[in-house]
Amino acid sequence: MEWIDYHLHTNHSFDSKASMEEVCREAIRKGVAEVCFTEHYSVNTKLPTYGHMNFEDYFYSIQQCRVKFKNEIIIKAGIELCEPHLMKDTYTDKLSGIELDFILGSVHNINEEKLRSYMYHKTPEEVYNDFFEEVYRLVSYSDIDVIAHFDLMKRYGMTSIGNYNFLKHRDIIERILTKAIERNIGLEINTSGLRNEKINEAFPGMDILAMYKSLGGEILTIGSDSHDAKSVGGHFKEARKIAKEAGFQYIFKFDKRKPSKFVI
Ligand SMILES: [Zn+2]
Ligand SMILES: [Zn+2]
Repeated sequence: MEWIDYHLHTNHSFDSKASMEEVCREAIRKGVAEVCFTEHYSVNTKLPTYGHMNFEDYFYSIQQCRVKFKNEIIIKAGIELCEPHLMKDTYTDKLSGIELDFILGSVHNINEEKLRSYMYHKTPEEVYNDFFEEVYRLVSYSDIDVIAHFDLMKRYGMTSIGNYNFLKHRDIIERILTKAIERNIGLEINTSGLRNEKINEAFPGMDILAMYKSLGGEILTIGSDSHDAKSVGGHFKEARKIAKEAGFQYIFKFDKRKPSKFVI
């Protein structure tokens, strides 16, 4: 079984201090065969993500690590876009000519408001519904390969408004998944929720993965969403188990945005 990690942050992201070299070293030490860096990127000047990423520096670090760790690990260059369905033309413009292996699309904000603060003064149903509606717009209008942390809202909701009730949001979730399949966009099993004992669940939960599979979804990646070296490759075995339980026999890697599957 090949161990890979397709969601990683380093100091090229505004919220991480990890150096790419130390992340690669730790991945190699753990026996991870392939990593894909997915640094945060936003074109919205109002978001904290804005202005941190310098693509020239990023690709320089990637190149340095590829040379340094040649024969030890495969290194892919990806990105995690923040609400790329908004300001779509600016994203297209800024990313043109940049050769990425993999693009994650994320909902970190609703109407430019952080998910953490979006919860206040609304019913839990409203909060989760608004979140999923934003994910629906993400999957409908963005040029992305995979939806990151599909039900991220529960990271903030779990300890206050509680987790969402799948059946109450079944319709919107089905619409998102159908659209994803139609547009050839995949899902990830994001293991960061398993690192947090208060959440103790991957993003997304089993109901969503099983529904994706039953609707004919195939493209699935696994990522730790680590922001420090020690979390690299975290909970990969558990993620693999979850994937199998949901009925998947393959997970995917990407090369210049082309998916290829391998048996898990
Ligand atoms: Zn994210
Ligand atoms: Zn991330």
